[in-house]
Amino acid sequence: MQTVDFSGLGLRPELLDALTALGYEEPTPIQAEAIPALLTGRDLVGQAATGTGKTAAFALPVLNALEEGDRGKKPSALILAPTRELANQVANAVSQYGQKVGARVLAVYGGAPITPQLKQLQRGVDVVVGTPGRVVDHLERGSLKLDGLRTVVLDEADEMLDMGFADELETILNQVPSVRQTVLFSATLPPKIARMAKKHLNDPVRVEIEKENVLAGESPKVTQTAHMVFRENKAATLARVLSVQQPTAAIVFCRTREEVDSLTEALKAKDVRAEALHGGMTQAERDRVMNRLRGGTADLLVATDVAARGLDVDHLTHVVNYNVPSAPETYVHRIGRVGRAGREGVAITLVEPRERRMIEAIEHLTKTKIPMAPIPTVADLRASRFGRTKDALVQALGSDLSDARKVIASLAKDHDPLDLAAAALSLVHAGTDEEEIPSAPVRAPRPERDDARPYSAGPTTRGGAHQRTGPPQRKGAAPGMAKVYIGAGRAAKVAPKDLVGAIAGETHLVGKQIGSIEITERFSLVEVPEKDLDTVVKALRASVIKGRKVSVRPDRDA
Ligand code: AMP
Repeated sequence: MQTVDFSGLGLRPELLDALTALGYEEPTPIQAEAIPALLTGRDLVGQAATGTGKTAAFALPVLNALEEGDRGKKPSALILAPTRELANQVANAVSQYGQKVGARVLAVYGGAPITPQLKQLQRGVDVVVGTPGRVVDHLERGSLKLDGLRTVVLDEADEMLDMGFADELETILNQVPSVRQTVLFSATLPPKIARMAKKHLNDPVRVEIEKENVLAGESPKVTQTAHMVFRENKAATLARVLSVQQPTAAIVFCRTREEVDSLTEALKAKDVRAEALHGGMTQAERDRVMNRLRGGTADLLVATDVAARGLDVDHLTHVVNYNVPSAPETYVHRIGRVGRAGREGVAITLVEPRERRMIEAIEHLTKTKIPMAPIPTVADLRASRFGRTKDALVQALGSDLSDARKVIASLAKDHDPLDLAAAALSLVHAGTDEEEIPSAPVRAPRPERDDARPYSAGPTTRGGAHQRTGPPQRKGAAPGMAKVYIGAGRAAKVAPKDLVGAIAGETHLVGKQIGSIEITERFSLVEVPEKDLDTVVKALRASVIKGRKVSVRPDRDA
């Protein structure tokens, strides 16, 4: 495992300050490898999914290159992302990292009013983060000028291609200056990504998180589970899981100092005896915390990886990953802290929906399936609490109960002793009104393709452009039917007869077997019998529509 410091990467002090303020203690493996390479100006292909810290890996070098003083109006970096959610998230991260260098960051994506975007582009922007559809739109309007670009980043490139954005990416990459830095991040590197990298990148450095050789069966004896949770429910979920499991001694790993502090507070508020441990604490403070854990006055440490390094707690029973770790190897190292010397350990991981890929990478590395467990319900919580009270009651039977017996004896004249015992038990459990915590869906919903054209009511500058009042509504296919996505629409002058003609001409289907046809500005959806879906997709991929090859795939949104 690398132990590089942020300060050794060559970043400007303002950026280092921003990272300290965010509580980042050390670069993630992808950052440690990518940042120095990008600072030299090289192109780069990075294999990294969400959760690896890839955003900072490409954003920090972009920010590092911003000139001091007046930077003019044209952006020096363009970051392309597949969905509006990701574009927003990346733009927010870039703004945060770049606050102290005064970075002007704009997110452009469809479905949002275009006027504020136009205004901000006019005022001047350093970094544009956008979805391909909306970026092409701005290029056509002339509102976005790419001739000042020094860096282009393709984030989640595989996802962009899967969503049918190949044409838009080509259009954009053909308009950027030929001398530029191009950065491509992708969770997977299928041949089509390799082809794209070959065409548009210049002798790129390849960065992939180093795979330590972890063989199946080598992992310690650890029971592993994961819970799929929404971010806002993570602290409550952890408190619930701890309450049910009652670990003897546990470490909860967090990403940043801030997260350590806020989670510790949240757990303490729920009566968990938690202690914080991170790199911002003095040695004396750390020693105090460790003594509390060893002495049994604390049950749980909330720590960053840096703080927990070298820490030796031999009676640890539980390791909790409050987030999926930024590299699969980190997961293996962390869970190696329990289940030592033949003892059984427990590893619990909270997974946010966007971290799915990372958990898959861990499963791949460890060759072990990590079962997704439901979040314990209120009933589970009650059952475990009653179970513990039962044990405690049986133990208490051995102690001096004479005073308590006198009270019960007097009450028993008027009440049933069983009712009295039940009432006493319910008093012990009073005040624990808990609510159910919803699990997040285990399977990812398909993100919506962002094809948005301007939806504002005003006239557009392009002649003949259709105006709509909102984004295309994607409806499911009729029973027995499935939808085919065709990457050409009104902009390519596609009409229903072209689609029917292409399908009927290339397959055995006849016109009346084809269902509804939806044509939007940039793509079309055609309903075909479900059983013929593959045949139609294959046939259309091999043919041309309106004289050109277009991307065709089953429409997974339907
Ligand atoms: P990403 O893979 O870029 O989506 O980042 C995943 C999460 O990790 C984000 O919440 C980042 O704020 C956080 N993060 C990125 N780099 C670091 C770091 N070096 N230390 C701690 N947290 C980080």
